[in-house]
Amino acid sequence: MTQEESAALAELAEVYRMVETQISAAGECKQCGACCHFKTFGHRLYATGLEVLYLITTEGPPKAEFGEDSCGYQDGALCGARGGRALGCRTFFCGGDMERMRAIHEEALQAIKAISDRHGLAWQYEALGVQMERVCGGKSPEVQSQ
Ligand code: SF4
Ligand code: SF4
Repeated sequence: MTQEESAALAELAEVYRMVETQISAAGECKQCGACCHFKTFGHRLYATGLEVLYLITTEGPPKAEFGEDSCGYQDGALCGARGGRALGCRTFFCGGDMERMRAIHEEALQAIKAISDRHGLAWQYEALGVQMERVCGGKSPEVQSQ
């Protein structure tokens, strides 16, 4: 890992800490795991290149392949990568205040972009499964459907 990547990861950890503080009163998650089944739930999870680096650095590669409807880090109903999960995972609450969560997400995303720019790292905002396919061979919905 380069010095720039290492410094960027430390700054990203600060952003995540700030987000955790902001969302602590924003919604309650019953940890049913339904929203981690992307297709069934009707959404897609995007992440930046820096977030993917953070996820793999802190949690290791996913234990299972990413599928059309599954995250390789999901362990039963629970997230098996809670400490390293992406911003999109952190700011999604099915029953929460969506507008507030969107604002928190957007502010944090801009902060992550500034970190990436400052350290000369590629932005790479793509579906998490696509990035995993590229970085560690995890299958992505896009790859599977080709
Ligand atoms: S945000 Fe909602 S759907 Fe996702 S795990 Fe929590 S309770 Fe389940
Ligand atoms: S990283 Fe965790 S929270 Fe995010 S989609 Fe995967 S299992 Fe769900």
